Amino acid sequence: MLNSIKFKLLIWLLIIFSFIFTILGLFLDYELEVVIFDQLDRSLTHTLQTVGNPLIMEASHGQLPMELWELANITTGIFSERLSGHYYQITSLKGEVLSRSPSLGLADITLPIAGASAIPTFKTIRGPNNVPLRLISQSLVLPDESTLILEVGVTLEDTYTVLRSFRDIVIIVFPAIFVLSAIGGLIITGWSLRPLKMFSSKIGQITEENLNTRIEDVRVARELKPLAESFNTMLIRIEDAFQRQQQFLSDASHELRTPTSIIKSYCDVTLSRERTANDYKEAMIKVGESVNRMCDIINRILIVSRLDNKTLKLKPVRIDLMEVMKDVIKIIEPAAANRDIKMSLDGRSVVIRGDTEGITAVFTNIVENGIKYNKPGGNIHINVDEENNQAIVTVRDTGIGIPSEEIPKIFERFYRVDTSRGQTVGSGLGLSIVKGIIEAHGGRIDVESAVGKGSTFRIFLPLS
Ligand code: ADP
Repeated sequence: MLNSIKFKLLIWLLIIFSFIFTILGLFLDYELEVVIFDQLDRSLTHTLQTVGNPLIMEASHGQLPMELWELANITTGIFSERLSGHYYQITSLKGEVLSRSPSLGLADITLPIAGASAIPTFKTIRGPNNVPLRLISQSLVLPDESTLILEVGVTLEDTYTVLRSFRDIVIIVFPAIFVLSAIGGLIITGWSLRPLKMFSSKIGQITEENLNTRIEDVRVARELKPLAESFNTMLIRIEDAFQRQQQFLSDASHELRTPTSIIKSYCDVTLSRERTANDYKEAMIKVGESVNRMCDIINRILIVSRLDNKTLKLKPVRIDLMEVMKDVIKIIEPAAANRDIKMSLDGRSVVIRGDTEGITAVFTNIVENGIKYNKPGGNIHINVDEENNQAIVTVRDTGIGIPSEEIPKIFERFYRVDTSRGQTVGSGLGLSIVKGIIEAHGGRIDVESAVGKGSTFRIFLPLS
């Protein structure tokens, strides 16, 4: 639940909306109150002047008592109805009520008497019937130097009703907006996540039988296209790896079948009747050869799988490639002589850091191939050199050559050029091991070849 995108979105919306709505609501409420009270105070000031000016004028004509009497006895308008919510009251400095609007008089209520202040003073008080009242008061100095205090009040009931309605609207509308946004957000999230459900159901259906499944691009939202592409690329890689694995298994069993069949047929033929000790010995020698071949294939398979999962242990030491090549020549000399192939070596001493066993295996394999795929009377020339901080060993033979379209494939596991099959003994694993070991040393291998003329293998290794 806590981990769900929808839940997080909801929480985020809740935080953002609560924050915005609280700030906005408080701000609008405050502003509305300020505007309404400002309006109210203006209207009160206006009423104060409407009541006060005639008082001063009439006082200058000696008509003050008459004016006070009229103010207390008007019969029309908002001040004439009992407790209408609109009031005025005139008091002397001593606190004696001289006149009050009929709205007060009819109920026989007086307003709290304000202090004398020449400038209008506003306050909010509890008025008749405990109703909130906005009150303006000002002292008026009459022509005879006497002072009256004039108070005008208006009920705040309507104002508070307006403010209450506004707050009610805010309390209903803002959460409604939140709910709508949350629903919209959840629907959009649901929609956006639907392709992920499709992904997961597709992934769930994938088995080794349908590794060719792909996500169709057209049905995926633009934002998820990279994911679909990565997913498809991953499937292509898995399918490829799986096929290679299958191929590896079938090639490995195929390669092991030949020596196994040889062993079986020797055993069957030898045991079919009584044999001389010599016959048994010969059969054992043949069986031994096939067992050796099987051991060789199994060892190579082991090296390939260790190279694959990077568990082949290399012990890097300083190696002089010239010395390695001399040793390789020594090992291979008898086989070369057997096929009447001459070997030559030139160049200089070049030192690299590498695993002696691995590097020797690499060059033994390449030079052995130079003999295996050579013509009787041919030759192999080896050169050891360095250039641009790299050791370069060139092995050039005058053998059968490799068709150009086959060159990229000869480093694949178990791959053998058709012309080699049946002609020479081999597993097709040698060059894939060679490439793996060279790359594990940070180097690379190049091949140039011409059918019928020979091949040149160039090995580049970083200098020590
Ligand atoms: P293997 O020699 O056991 O068949 P490799 O992996 O060493 O396996 O070589 C793969 C294939 O590349 C060989 O079967 C052969 O067809 C071809 N090849 C390798 N080296 C040479 C060479 N020097 N001249 C011609 N073909 C070669």
